[in-house]
Amino acid sequence: MNDLPNCPQCGSEYTYHDGSNFVCSLCAHEWPQDEAGENSDDLKVVKDANGNVLQDGDTVTVIKDLKVKGSSLVVKVGTRVKNIRLVEGDHDIDCKIDGIGAMKLKSEFVKKA
Ligand SMILES: [Zn+2]
Repeated sequence: MNDLPNCPQCGSEYTYHDGSNFVCSLCAHEWPQDEAGENSDDLKVVKDANGNVLQDGDTVTVIKDLKVKGSSLVVKVGTRVKNIRLVEGDHDIDCKIDGIGAMKLKSEFVKKA
């Protein structure tokens, strides 16, 4: 978790993140974040069961039977789910499945079609 660099000016480890910059709390030196993933602040990477990165609009296939909460419906293994939308949370895929309707899936139970 703690991947903050030391201050390049005074070497202090008491640095923090401020927007796209790092700031040293000792000497107040500010410098830009230059690591890869600069724009990844609010972009959570969602991966399927095979480790492929999923994106909004992708089509995925369900890899195991999934019971639909609060109903007797089951999303069968092999069901194709079109046009997924990635969301925050435990169930990180928002989608609509033919015959079932809108529901949420866990990315670990799908693979990219
Ligand atoms: Zn400093």
